[in-house]
Amino acid sequence: MNPNSKIYVAGHRGMVGSAIVRQLLLEGYSNLVLKTSQELDLRDQKATYKFFEEEQPEYVFLAAARVGGVWANYTRGAEFIYDNIMIQTNVIDAARKYGVKKLLFLGSSCIYPRLAPQPMKEEYLLTGPFEPTNEPYALAKVAGLKMCIAYRRQYGCNFISIMPTNLYGPGDNYDLMESHVLPALLRKFHEAKLERKKQVVVWGSGSPMREFLHVNDLASACIFLMKNYNDELWLNCGSGEEISIGALAELIREIVNWQAEIIYDTSKPDGMPRKLLDSSRLRALGWQPHYSLREGITDVYNNHFEKDYAKYSKKVSYSSQ
Ligand code: GDP
Repeated sequence: MNPNSKIYVAGHRGMVGSAIVRQLLLEGYSNLVLKTSQELDLRDQKATYKFFEEEQPEYVFLAAARVGGVWANYTRGAEFIYDNIMIQTNVIDAARKYGVKKLLFLGSSCIYPRLAPQPMKEEYLLTGPFEPTNEPYALAKVAGLKMCIAYRRQYGCNFISIMPTNLYGPGDNYDLMESHVLPALLRKFHEAKLERKKQVVVWGSGSPMREFLHVNDLASACIFLMKNYNDELWLNCGSGEEISIGALAELIREIVNWQAEIIYDTSKPDGMPRKLLDSSRLRALGWQPHYSLREGITDVYNNHFEKDYAKYSKKVSYSSQ
């Protein structure tokens, strides 16, 4: 990539895509092509081909996806498999057809087996069954990374993939039935503080272990790989910092500064018991995260929460939990 390269960031309104755009602009890449999903529905193959034919992007960050937390995945699997397979298939094939120089596909740590040894290495892919609550999403993401490999082998396309761990950051989703755990708990403790509530409900048992990465760190990894990596093996991208959901709730309680009691709702699914990536391959290339978990959550709560939360707090949520 050079400063004049034409770069398409698919999904630039999402948390990941917008972080990639911010980081590209910071690094001096300003020839960006951006389309909202209203302007270009990437599930529509004809529209996607037309866009690539007209715009001829040289580099593509494929961050457009339907994403969501454990409940959204559990209850709306059809949308997760359909939308993701359509979006990624259309974009990857259009990138081949219209001669894109390089494409980065974004996957997810949920591609690995539910009971994979921890930390999870790239080679554990497809060595066991998926976590059932997000199987449709995981299958779609595996199809995407395998498609990049197949296109590289058959057509010589320089398509690479990155598998991020659980993300959080500016532009996150604060809808309680759609979101991931970290923004959900920020919202719950924040509202408890505003309403002087004595209790906060945390889903599941509190015992699952998760790893979290600030989305700005993921964005820097994506650009780093676009510049420096040209192999078919997908690379894991995590912070290496692991925490239980119970301990995360306590940390968020401390950062929000509201001493509510934590109540566990075990009618909600735990999802994968443990999800920690082995990111040593990416680190060996020279990338490292900038934020600790405490610094990252503090940054989000102090600098971004109010604006992002305002979009959701005005909507009527169909559950307050
Ligand atoms: P996952 O990493 O794909 O399982 O996605 P989530 O971020 O949605 O959930 C991670 C873990 O946090 C699961 O064990 C959830 O049960 C738990 N959790 C606790 N409270 C909440 C909550 O309010 N919302 C969400 N989404 N998860 C929660």
